Amino acid sequence: MDYILDICPKCMDKLYEREKTLDDNGREYNDPVSEAFCPNCGHRLIMACGGAKKPDSTVYDTAYKIFISYTADGQEEEAIDIVMKLGRCSRDAALEKLNTEHCLLCEGNLLETYLCIRELAEVNCFLVYETEPEFPYDIPLFTFFCPTCGGIPVMKEEILENSPFEVEVGIFCEKCNKWVKTYITSRKDIDNTVYHLRVCLKGIESNVKMELLEKLEAYEDWKIKKEVTEERIAVDGLASNISDILTDLKSNDISYEIEPPYPYEIPVYKKLWTEEDVELLKAMNPGLNVTAEELNDLN
Ligand SMILES: [Zn+2]
Ligand SMILES: [Zn+2]
Repeated sequence: MDYILDICPKCMDKLYEREKTLDDNGREYNDPVSEAFCPNCGHRLIMACGGAKKPDSTVYDTAYKIFISYTADGQEEEAIDIVMKLGRCSRDAALEKLNTEHCLLCEGNLLETYLCIRELAEVNCFLVYETEPEFPYDIPLFTFFCPTCGGIPVMKEEILENSPFEVEVGIFCEKCNKWVKTYITSRKDIDNTVYHLRVCLKGIESNVKMELLEKLEAYEDWKIKKEVTEERIAVDGLASNISDILTDLKSNDISYEIEPPYPYEIPVYKKLWTEEDVELLKAMNPGLNVTAEELNDLN
């Protein structure tokens, strides 16, 4: 990193450009703890962010906008709280923001935006966001101190024993042997593997195919690479991005190839029987006497 900006972890009120970015041997000096101290409280400064862009007044004063791009299901209450806090708005306004596509969450200068991104990163399992213009620096997350010993914790992931699909992620103080900050997330959500999914569309019923292609259109904003033709779908994406597509495929009994093998459970939605389906079923099985209602009750 050419430039490093430090912050006081107690005051969190200003970004300081680190003066010394090379150590005595001329190697890049990017220790998370700065050699400088906070002029207000005397605490050591820690690295807030860094990158190649010189932090001049334009960088500090640009108005960065943060947009909400996606909220995970089942986490509405947490999302409302964070939108109320960062958007400085009422509960009603937060609800409206969450229901509006690509909604503006907040706007601020470099420091204000940095603080918002940090808060969002802490809840990143359910609120996805975009900044405009792009935030110019990389933010090493969890640059916290251990409240017990004052030491620097390390990043850690631990698979939960009683839940093979979940993992505890956070920062851990090795000296005190305890978590400083942690949250539970699914292994799928932190999996960085790119899965290559290939589906042959030949012979698939046209209404099912249309439905699938329409859904793929809607995945446009997601960070996946896709190639769709009349005969073939090719998608490269992370597990969390392609899980919905896999559910659609499996629910419709469409076969596919995936590399590397997808290790997570793929939920399947239950299909409801229509009168038409039942007529077809009866035609193929003479003597069968069932109604759509009876079949749906079996589901
Ligand atoms: Zn301070
Ligand atoms: Zn400690």
